[in-house]
Parts: sequence; C-alpha cells; structure tokens
Amino acid sequence: MDLAYGKEYEAFRLEVRDFLAEHWLQGSREGNAPQATSDFRQTATDRGYLYRGVPKAYGGGEQPADALKAQVIREEFGRARAPMEVSGNGVSMLVPTLLERGEEWQKEKFIRKTILGEYQWAQGYSEPGSGSDLASLRTQGRLEGDEWVIDGQKIWTSQAQHCQFMFTLVRTEPEASKHAGISYLLVPLDQPGIEIKPLKMITGQSHFNEVFLNDARTPADWIVGERGEGWKVSKTTLKHERNAIGGGSQAIFESLMRLVGKATLDGRPALEDPSIRERIAALEAWVWAQKYTAYHQMTCGLQGKDPGIVTLLNKLLATDIGHEVAAVALELIGDASLKEPFAAAPDQRGDERWMNQFMGSLGNSIAGGTSNIQRNIIAERGLGLPREESTA
Ligand SMILES: Cc1cc2nc3c(=O)[nH]c(=O)nc-3n(C[C@H](O)[C@H](O)[C@H](O)COP(=O)(O)OP(=O)(O)OC[C@H]3O[C@@H](n4cnc5c(N)ncnc54)[C@H](O)[C@@H]3O)c2cc1C
Repeated sequence: MDLAYGKEYEAFRLEVRDFLAEHWLQGSREGNAPQATSDFRQTATDRGYLYRGVPKAYGGGEQPADALKAQVIREEFGRARAPMEVSGNGVSMLVPTLLERGEEWQKEKFIRKTILGEYQWAQGYSEPGSGSDLASLRTQGRLEGDEWVIDGQKIWTSQAQHCQFMFTLVRTEPEASKHAGISYLLVPLDQPGIEIKPLKMITGQSHFNEVFLNDARTPADWIVGERGEGWKVSKTTLKHERNAIGGGSQAIFESLMRLVGKATLDGRPALEDPSIRERIAALEAWVWAQKYTAYHQMTCGLQGKDPGIVTLLNKLLATDIGHEVAAVALELIGDASLKEPFAAAPDQRGDERWMNQFMGSLGNSIAGGTSNIQRNIIAERGLGLPREESTA
C-alpha cells in the first residue's frame, strides 16, 4: 500500500508552504491581531485554499473538488498554526445546505457574510422529547400574510446566545405524516418573539440554550426547499471535502501521552504500570484505526463513491477515543484533573481542564446523534441486521 500523496500533491504542498511563509509571517495565532487573521483568511480564500467548495460569486475560493488538496491544505495550515475557515454551524452546515438547496437570493444574502464570520447561526433541531426521534418535533409554524409565525420550544441549541440567526425545523403541515409535515426555516433570533435561556452544564459553562418561540416571526420566503420538504433539506449531506481526517483524536492522544510521561503511580513512572500500558496500547490502536478509516473515507471521496457508514464509524470512534483518553487521565491524576490544564497541542494555552475534557466527552457521545443511534445505523445499513420498528 502506497500512502504517499504523489508528485503533483507534494508540489502543491510546497506551493502552500510558500504561501504561508509569505502571508502568515508571525507563524502563530497568538501573534496575530483579529484584523490580520481576517485579512489572511481573505487572501487564502482568493488563492483558493479556503472555502474551496463555495463559488467566488458568494465570496468563496471556488476550486474543483479535490480531497487530497484539501487534506494537504489542512496539514500545512495546521503545521503553520494558520487560521482555517471560520468555525460554527453556519459554515459547516448551513452554507453547504444553501449551496445545494437554497434560492439564488438566499445564497447571495447569507453565504458571504456567514463565511466572513459576520453572521453566526444556531441549529434549532432538538426539542424536549424530540432528539433521536427528531421527526416527532412539535414546534408549529403557520403562514400569516407574508410571514411565518412560529410557536414552540427548541433545546440544546448550541451557542444560540451568541448567534444572530437560527436554521430550524418546524411543523408547518400538521395534517401530513410525521416526516412530510416539516419545513426548514431561517429565523432571526433578535426579536421579541424569541427568548434564549442559557443552560448551565456540568462543566459550569453555558454551551447551549433553551430557545422559546412565542409568536416568533420570519419572512415567508426564508424557507429552504419547499413547504414540507424540511426533513429532506436537513439531511443534505456535507461535501466530501469536509471529511475530517481524525487529526483531533491524534492530538488528544498526544496530549494524554504528555501527561503520562510526567505522571507517577505508587511512586513509579505511570508507563511502568501494566494496566495503564494496556489501555494506552488499545487507545493507540484506535487512533491508528481511525486515521486509516479516514484515509479510506478520503479515497471514497476521490473516487466519487459514497463512504456509507464509514463516516458514522469515524464519529463513534472519535467519541470513544475522546472519552477513554480523558478517563485514563483522570485515573492518573485524580483530583488534580480539576486544575491540570488540557491542551491539544504543546504550545496551546490550555484554558480547559482535564476534568472538563472528561465531562465534555460525555456530551460528545450525545451531540449530533447519540452513539446508540450511530450503532443502530451501522448495524442496519452496514451489517444488514433487521431494521428497528418504525414509529412513523
Ligand atoms: C454538546 C451538545 C450539543 C448539542 N447541540 C445541539 C444543537 O446545536 N442543536 C440541536 O438541535 N441539538 C443539539 N444537541 C442535541 C442533540 O442532538 C440531542 O441531545 C441528541 O440528538 C439526543 O437526543 P435527546 O437528548 O432527546 O436524547 P434521547 O433521544 O431521548 O435519547 C436518550 C437515550 O436513549 C437512547 N436512544 C434513543 N432512541 C434510541 C433507539 N432508537 N435505539 C437505541 N437507543 C436509543 C439514546 O442513545 C440516549 O442514550 C446537542 C447535544 C449535546 C450533548
């Protein structure tokens, strides 16, 4: 098996390195003011390194899909600690959805400002009682003149307290069957009909919110897709270039190894403890497995094939790795995990603590579809086991 990227891509790598040497002078995030960061992003986008799947007309880099080039860019920007695309639901979820399903005016109005980070979006899917069984959602939307009027409640809405807009699923066709009655609406959050209440998490932070909609309003044409097509729109898949390569798991594993290198158990180096060695060996095998699964996913992308359940396997594995890494750390340092900083890279500030990393890892097994649900789908679609009885 030859895992080299080939001459063309290594030449491309040198080109990206030259670009970074010229334009990301200070070489670290900390040394760059916000304006410098945003100017750099603009230059990198103009050169076609960022927002490659977004047409230039909407402010993107507009490049032909090429998963290997995207990977080289991730690797080189990561090495130089240069800013990648703005993070958040807007860029990762709404922009690809609008590109595939949005009206022309919606693309023009929302995409450029979203990728510049001026518009931030919350994802209003989950409701009390409708999480895994999302299609049972009850928030109602009705058309009154040229506006949708929305009543109901969303929950676990990440970062809504900092966002200007929300893309949300709302039941607009109460007579239709469960999945056919839902529409995908874009809603401004700063209005009298919306109340956002932050929820305090076990970590003490307020990552997510309850969002109460009481006579909330949004223009009639702020709908993506047709009425009753919201379920299909919400399933719009992300472009294959966005497939992650498991770098996150590698980084947190390395963070654990730095901790293990310093830790002692019963007065001896932790690495001499057989049970710790066994768990670390298993973890390292998972990290490698995930890395090569991600390569497989990338190859599927290059060959225009659907990676199928591999993306689900990756999410499941990443979640399990994150949890086990933090569990081993807690075992090693005990109460010190309340103080000991967690940093995914040696030169990171590390404003998280290992205890937060552990508690956050529990949330990751729920966010974006729970691990049990991933396992169900892997079993049904991947292993051909009988399907769960539908409640539709
Ligand atoms: C950190 C975090 C961020 C989030 N951010 C957002 C956000 O921004 N926007 C948003 O809309 N939502 C968000 N969510 C919500 C998330 O999508 C839901 O929590 C998730 O879909 C699970 O739904 P639920 O909480 O209602 O749990 P439930 O669906 O009630 O599940 C409870 C338990 O039952 C299990 N279970 C349920 N059904 C089955 C089944 N059929 N087979 C086997 N087991 C099953 C689940 O695995 C779980 O263990 C976030 C959640 C977290 C933790």
